[in-house]
Amino acid sequence: MTNNSLPFPALYASHSGIWLADISGSCRRIARGEAVGMAAETPLIVLNAVLTGQRLGYADLSGLDLLELFAFVHPAQFCVPTPAGLFKRLGMAAASSPAPADDMIAPMLREAASHLLSAMDVPNWPEREGAWSSAQALHRHRWSWSSEVLKRLKKPEHAEKWLFSRLTEWEEEPPPAAPRGVVLDDQDIIEHLDLLTGEGAEKREGQQIYARHAGAVFRPREQRGSPNMLLAEAGTGIGKTLGYLAPASLWSAETGGSVWISTYTKALQRQLNKETQRIYPDAHVLKRKVVVRKGRENYLCLLNLEDAMQGGFSGRPAILAQLVARWAAYSRDGDMIGGDLPGWLTTLFRRRGVTSLTDRRGECIYAGCPHYRKCFIEKAVRASQHADIVIANHALVMVNAARGREEQSRTGRIIFDEGHHLFDAADSMFAANLTGQEAIEIRRWVIGPEQSSKGRRRGLAARLSDLASYDEEGGRAIEAARVAANAMVSDGWLQRLNEGSPHGAMEEFFAAIRGLVYARDENTNSGNDAGYSLETELAELPGGFIEAAAKTANALDALLKPLIQLGKRLEAILIDGPDWLDGQARARAEGALNSLQWRMDTVSAWLSMVASIGGPPPPDFISWLGVERFEGREFDIGYYRRWIDPMKPFAEIVLKPAHGVITTSATLKTGDDWDGAMVRSGAVHLERPPQTFAVPSPFDYAAQAEILIVTDIRRGDISGLASAYAGLIQASGGGALGLFTAIKRLRTVHGRIADRLAEEGLPLYAQHIDPIDTGTLVDIFRDEPRASLLGTDALRDGVDVPGHSLRLVVMEGVPWPKPNILHKARRLAMTEKGGGSAYDDAIIRGRLAQAFGRLIRSKNDRGQFVVLSPAFPSRLLSAFPKGTNIRRVTLAECLQSVQYNASLAQQSQGDSQTLLSANLNKDDLGT
Ligand code: SF4
Repeated sequence: MTNNSLPFPALYASHSGIWLADISGSCRRIARGEAVGMAAETPLIVLNAVLTGQRLGYADLSGLDLLELFAFVHPAQFCVPTPAGLFKRLGMAAASSPAPADDMIAPMLREAASHLLSAMDVPNWPEREGAWSSAQALHRHRWSWSSEVLKRLKKPEHAEKWLFSRLTEWEEEPPPAAPRGVVLDDQDIIEHLDLLTGEGAEKREGQQIYARHAGAVFRPREQRGSPNMLLAEAGTGIGKTLGYLAPASLWSAETGGSVWISTYTKALQRQLNKETQRIYPDAHVLKRKVVVRKGRENYLCLLNLEDAMQGGFSGRPAILAQLVARWAAYSRDGDMIGGDLPGWLTTLFRRRGVTSLTDRRGECIYAGCPHYRKCFIEKAVRASQHADIVIANHALVMVNAARGREEQSRTGRIIFDEGHHLFDAADSMFAANLTGQEAIEIRRWVIGPEQSSKGRRRGLAARLSDLASYDEEGGRAIEAARVAANAMVSDGWLQRLNEGSPHGAMEEFFAAIRGLVYARDENTNSGNDAGYSLETELAELPGGFIEAAAKTANALDALLKPLIQLGKRLEAILIDGPDWLDGQARARAEGALNSLQWRMDTVSAWLSMVASIGGPPPPDFISWLGVERFEGREFDIGYYRRWIDPMKPFAEIVLKPAHGVITTSATLKTGDDWDGAMVRSGAVHLERPPQTFAVPSPFDYAAQAEILIVTDIRRGDISGLASAYAGLIQASGGGALGLFTAIKRLRTVHGRIADRLAEEGLPLYAQHIDPIDTGTLVDIFRDEPRASLLGTDALRDGVDVPGHSLRLVVMEGVPWPKPNILHKARRLAMTEKGGGSAYDDAIIRGRLAQAFGRLIRSKNDRGQFVVLSPAFPSRLLSAFPKGTNIRRVTLAECLQSVQYNASLAQQSQGDSQTLLSANLNKDDLGT
């Protein structure tokens, strides 16, 4: 299949060098200057132009990107976006092959291009439909591959179905009946569990007990406002997902009800999606019974896509729109973030245009949309109303409960997996932020975009022009809202604030916030200003600030009143059904009413926040002022409010209306104490206490893992930190996950060690540096056993890499909570209840336990967990599973130990024998 006739050289750049394969097939190492010169003059085949450009220091690099070609040829399919990943995906290398050496890659990239192009020659190429029309459109947008692609595509004899006609429509169905009340029999649960785990599977006692406890939650509840609730801690390896899926699916089958399973990370959503295939092995049944739901901002909006394809986008974003359209025609569910759209595709376009393709700004016009019946979001909403199992996330479950738009989505039985994240999810959900960026969105929603826009975004008056002309009162409300929205911030506001010339009441308020924050934040005056966000408490406010707030309150009030009036008119018109209200106008009015409610809620929350300035602080909340910055660049300014205990509204809105709730995780308790879990799950606000249940991990941590606390790297010694990371990665031969609490340190360490490691064949990837989304970084890490990965919080919690690819976790120190205003307020609230330092400790223990949890994912895993901390408090050692061996060592001893284990692992990789026990000495602390 190799075709050397492609008239393009290929370029490959890693941290260790740059190689060029010319069209004769020869390959040579070249200097950066020559590479940049070549790239500027000649179209080059590359793999990931953004990453290659970053490595060349040439941000404008474009070229014939193989990943774009892959997205065209195999839409809605995935490939690990590395040379090794692509070669395996194309069958050019066996799945078990080691990654090719850097100097072999460039010629193979040319070969890969030929493979991809040849795939279109195969007569039964499954993704042929739509390809010709799509390539024509891409050619008009000067897509670099279009000429080569069009050479291989014949114009179809019949006009191709265009994307929107290929998509199926959802059917209206009657609302589901209320589930019957049943009590599940323990024996039935265990038999069902056996069925799911499969014949011959090892019987796990912990999993069986877990399943029985979970089953009890599905009993009919005894009292309104008081759900059956279970807090269940299940150590890693118990098999808790099947442990709760067994009773949940049994209950669904017996009662016709739905069970919502809520997760925090996409990794668990993916795992659950796989596990449910055991319950419903038939793919058609599975599709009906199990639905994955995400927030609407995750899905492609077909109307926005149509707009983008019909002139709304130009340049590179227009090419992205065409590739997204090609994906949408083959996509399972239209989920752009974490679904079957490869995460790397949008990063190739530097994410420009991506948000405009989703419904991120809440501009959906619902039944007024010509694609309403094919809309991915509407399909997912309807499918979930009739599904047995709905896999969702914490944020969506809370949004549904709070906004109540989906009354038919029956969230009566909820399983919150990764329950240790519930508190943070509720914290974000019930927060109120009055920021410049939020205010500008409201203005645009009412008035429309300020500059001439080719897009479909229109203001309220344009969207409801029929209402404005036929209904006098409605017309007046729209006009009053339009006038009032002028007082919100407008385009260019940040620059005006910087220049000291704010425009209008609200910009003056934000200018006052900015002034106060810069005056009061300690970092700006202490020489510690690292260019990140600043904040100050909302206290001891000067008179001028209070005046600016009062003017803003007036402006918000002036906007809220006509919005309320408009809402009333829309409701009345929909009930009365005047003559002019044809089907389309009705759909538009319904759509407007839907999105209006959300805006009214937002503006009224802001009004209540601003109106309280100058008065006594509301007791349940903590408020502060902030300037959001990244590397010294301001991107937002605002007034922020959080619940001191966000589980209070969570308990009211989510827990109390539910019939049964399981909150589960591998880390819920603090030691043997459930008090923290009661607070952080919201159970403390329920009248009836929850059941609690814990089952330890079946793993033999003493044999499978070891914890090394390195005591001779001083805090703040960045050179020492970088050398330690480099040394540890070298000693383990890669397979290391490096966790940081500060992006700045991560960048510095990466900058100092990446090239050095690459020269030894140890690729180093990093969140916040590589232009690759986090999910894809984890996929790359999993796929390359010699690769290592550096990252921050998202990696501490969401990485599930069983096996040899992850054999070492390195934490840069004890993960202390950031002492920001919010944290201090919560700590103070806990201190008043007698648990201030215990509050901090619980947070740190949770983080350590989660980080450690990345290491051992299966009973065959072996690994070491290293913390670089000269003074690791002994009281925090209880964060780790009982029996795990812990040693305090110097870096030299640690390196020796890691190297020793790496050599043992190499000798007997795959051998389930205990490796680490050979290396333990008398200093073991034992937890
Ligand atoms: S119904 Fe709303 S989200 Fe769906 S395609 Fe139309 S505008 Fe977009």
